[in-house]
Amino acid sequence: MLQQVNGHSSNPDAHGRKPLREDLQEFLGQDAPLLLLDDLTKVNPVTLETVLRCLQARYMADTFYTNAGCTLVALNPFKPVPQLYSPELMRQYHAAPQPQKLKPHIFGVGEQTYRNVKSLIEPVNQSIVVSGESGAGKTWTSRCLMKFYAVVAASPTSWESHRIAERIEQRILNSNPVMEAFGNACTLRNNNSSRFGKFIQLQLNRTQQMTGAAVQTYLLEKTRVAYQASSERNFHIFYQICKGANADERLQWHLPEGAAFSWLPNPERTLEEDCFEVTREAMLHLGISAPTQNNIFKVLAGLLHLGNIRFADSGDEAQPCQLMDDAKCSFRTSASLLWLPEDPLLETLQIRTIRAGRQQQVFRKPCSQAECDTRRDCLAKLVYARLFDWLVSVINSSICADPNSWTTFIGLLDVYGFESFPDNSLEQLCINYANEKLQQHFVAHYLRAQQEEYAVEGLEWSFVNYQDNQTCLDLIEGSPVSICSLINEECRLNRPSSAAQLQTRIESALAGSPCLGHNKLSREPSFIVVHYAGPVRYHTAGLVEKNKDPVPPELTRLLQQSQDPLLKVLFPADPEETSQEEPSGQSRVPVLTVVSKFKASLEQLLQVLHGTTPHYIRCIKPNGQGRAQTFLREEVLSQLEACGLVETIHISAAGFPIRVSHQNFVERYELLRRLRPRISPAPHIPSDKGCSEWSPRAEAPTLQPLLQDIFHSLPALTRAAATPGGPAEATPAS
Ligand code: ATP
Ligand code: MG
Repeated sequence: MLQQVNGHSSNPDAHGRKPLREDLQEFLGQDAPLLLLDDLTKVNPVTLETVLRCLQARYMADTFYTNAGCTLVALNPFKPVPQLYSPELMRQYHAAPQPQKLKPHIFGVGEQTYRNVKSLIEPVNQSIVVSGESGAGKTWTSRCLMKFYAVVAASPTSWESHRIAERIEQRILNSNPVMEAFGNACTLRNNNSSRFGKFIQLQLNRTQQMTGAAVQTYLLEKTRVAYQASSERNFHIFYQICKGANADERLQWHLPEGAAFSWLPNPERTLEEDCFEVTREAMLHLGISAPTQNNIFKVLAGLLHLGNIRFADSGDEAQPCQLMDDAKCSFRTSASLLWLPEDPLLETLQIRTIRAGRQQQVFRKPCSQAECDTRRDCLAKLVYARLFDWLVSVINSSICADPNSWTTFIGLLDVYGFESFPDNSLEQLCINYANEKLQQHFVAHYLRAQQEEYAVEGLEWSFVNYQDNQTCLDLIEGSPVSICSLINEECRLNRPSSAAQLQTRIESALAGSPCLGHNKLSREPSFIVVHYAGPVRYHTAGLVEKNKDPVPPELTRLLQQSQDPLLKVLFPADPEETSQEEPSGQSRVPVLTVVSKFKASLEQLLQVLHGTTPHYIRCIKPNGQGRAQTFLREEVLSQLEACGLVETIHISAAGFPIRVSHQNFVERYELLRRLRPRISPAPHIPSDKGCSEWSPRAEAPTLQPLLQDIFHSLPALTRAAATPGGPAEATPAS
């Protein structure tokens, strides 16, 4: 009976769903009918409990997508479901007269977005904001959407254009494995966690073909190169070269089988993402030649050897720390792979040059053992971050279309998900800050703006309460005082201050904020921010230094001396450089701190998003262990609560489905006005006609008379279109 209820035959349907198993039938019991509910707005009553039960029932029956009004909820299957992402299914959604009537799917969102671009109603740029916790499936989703557009947005006419179109799509798709190899890593939450944010703009021409793309990245977590939390790993690419290099390359890059590197923890874990061949192949498609690739991997091997360098404490402040005996070989190998002169390399790591006194004389000060380590790490981070940026620019030049060849774009946003680890620092603060901003964009665009508009239009509406995260954002970025401003202030003052002092400053200056949690239990200096997705404790140790992200100028100058062709590109000689040494005392005060730069790039991103019609996909992680067929109610519940899904459903269920600006409405339907003289008498049109296309309430009361006109004109339009000459022959209105 259940099979009938669900409309399933004994064979899998287009979504690959098999008939309900008996055990599942038993498991679901009275919840089985919930499987039918493709849209959570139909759940009755809409509560966290009923929404959860519906999602659980659907998940257990391998139904991973559910609409929630304006949002698509995507549950991570944590198992391969190839039939759900087949090109055939993509084409089905593309060809469907009304894709929204098909089963909820990311391709439905993709197709709707695609149609909106060319729609006469709102011919504006579109964006798809994919959000969710780390490991919830954002990157997977945006990858699938890119594949979808590569299939549906390629409609070449001639063989030649077919070849070109295929090349550009292939290149765009190839940017994924490359960026993931260099920018993703295995974390406690996700084996393939994105350690950078990404906004990809798929560029479309007037005929809706994808002519190119542009990638913008945000804040790569470069500290990972030199520091990996316990049970985590470095960026995938390091493991790929160590596991996938051939015998020749092993010799060239000094990577003998089984070599141990301190920056390469947990190498024994084998991940799907460790496949070197995929990365190389993709790089080739992007126009990165084999010799250039070889150069890149050689530099990366140089960084791995650099990580094995250790200094012994000299025991005398006046004497530089020397290399430990067992680190000498790594040092020489690293210098040779990075093509750096050995003596200046060693000296740069051991000795700081500072300017002091009235004459700004240059002094050389031996670094402590810890300072030597910091300089070593800084060198690696500097090289890796520039390499990553350079790769992104190479990718962009390979996939970016000529500005005259595209008119609109679809933006896909995939940023790192909300994170809360036992030890959270500046990286997590930035990541969670970005998530707060996106949540605010959603709240502002959907939950608040829509309801405010109803009030302005004088429509009958009972206000739905929602969790506004403005207070949390005020705490993080507000003025005059916020966490960001306090951390920046410490950097600006450039004074020695302990982690405990920073904690006290934050707690006393921001004591009034309800989003600053109580910090009683921690032994280490820290503060708690109550984010929309839950409270997170941030440790203050090292926060200010990370925010300064100081790069000693000697390090840059050293890298400018490299003879390596790639490093020469990454660190071009700068003849203009004037400031050569650090000022005395503390490290240099940066003009722009990490959080200031991040804040500026987020604001830029939000500006772009504001210029688009957004679509939302909420990825949900059914369990933290990455297990298939496992739906942990508590874990899902907290994600539903955090993203305010129930409020979204309430507003979607009660709100107006279509909102069209007056201007666009008039532009589209102005034609009908001209047909008016033909109508006599006006026939009655049932009130549900046409509602799938627009809602008369949407523009009430200003559009009321116009809408009445249109309702009355529809049959005339049909007649006019059927008559020779069509509507163009209609008598203009007097
Ligand atoms: P982060 O914020 O850490 O980058 P994320 O939200 O981008 O996380 P993904 O890397 O997309 O998470 O997904 C985590 C893992 O979940 C994937 O590596 C994959 O194994 C699995 N996964 C996600 N979505 C799907 C899907 N639709 N089908 C099958 N497996 C999936
Ligand atoms: Mg990701």
